Amino acid sequence: MAKIISVCNQKGGVGKTTTCVNLSAFMAHFGKKTLVVDLDPQANATSGLGIDKKALNFSVYNVLLGEVPIKEAVLPTALENLKLIPSSLSLIGAEVELQKSEGQQHCLKNLLNNVLQDFDFIFVDLPPSLGVLTVNGLTAAHSVIIPVQCEYYALEGLSQLLITIEKIKQAFNPDLAIEGVLLTMADFRTTLCHEVINEARQYFKDNVYQTVIPRSVRLSEAPGFGKPILLYDPNSNGAIKYAELCQEVMTRNGFSGAGLPVTENKL
Ligand code: ATP
Ligand code: MG
Repeated sequence: MAKIISVCNQKGGVGKTTTCVNLSAFMAHFGKKTLVVDLDPQANATSGLGIDKKALNFSVYNVLLGEVPIKEAVLPTALENLKLIPSSLSLIGAEVELQKSEGQQHCLKNLLNNVLQDFDFIFVDLPPSLGVLTVNGLTAAHSVIIPVQCEYYALEGLSQLLITIEKIKQAFNPDLAIEGVLLTMADFRTTLCHEVINEARQYFKDNVYQTVIPRSVRLSEAPGFGKPILLYDPNSNGAIKYAELCQEVMTRNGFSGAGLPVTENKL
């Protein structure tokens, strides 16, 4: 049964999609059957995994509306163990459409139930908002990864996110957990960066991953080539750090080594 992890922060441009794409790619590389669900109308995870969104005649939008069965919407990627349910701009319309239906918050969860057996991990890339798509992503998830950019105001707005997570727990998903807080785009030469890291560790304690993702030109170039960093430049610092993050996520979930389960899978 897959563990569903949503990648969420209503602040824009903090590294949600970069984390979703690259963490998923390493999961697949380490042998885990992995699915990325692109739940952002910007469809950055879709193009970042090399899928031309303009060439698709369906997306997660059609799946949410019940027009396409979820299993038919699962696309292959360049990595054998990595699959994608793509997004498209039409997903903007889902906000309106979903609001018409009863139990709209559970829509994604109910759909993902049909593919839980097919994967070890499902990562959901969420948009920078707290609208109905994000509510769906958080209602469907077992846990949430929160990327935080090592910048001014990084921790501002997180209290709003934590309140939202608490509300979702109370209303729709009592078991929703914080999988981890990930510090991203770190420039270790600056004092500010170290201040943000210290502050985040003080506040979120062990929930903060040991791995901190550095600012890396290679990481920002890779989506332009439709490739995760693992395929674009596996020896770059960004690749090494996302591989380390992947190991950390696996260890926290009872796996170790190159993705081999050492203890019974507790997912
Ligand atoms: P949105 O809120 O718009 O969905 P996001 O939170 O998904 O944004 P990304 O798209 O992952 O953020 O990253 C924002 C921009 O920063 C992108 O251009 C991405 O390539 C770049 N970026 C992300 N992580 C890094 C990094 N570690 N080093 C350098 N550039 C990065
Ligand atoms: Mg994004």
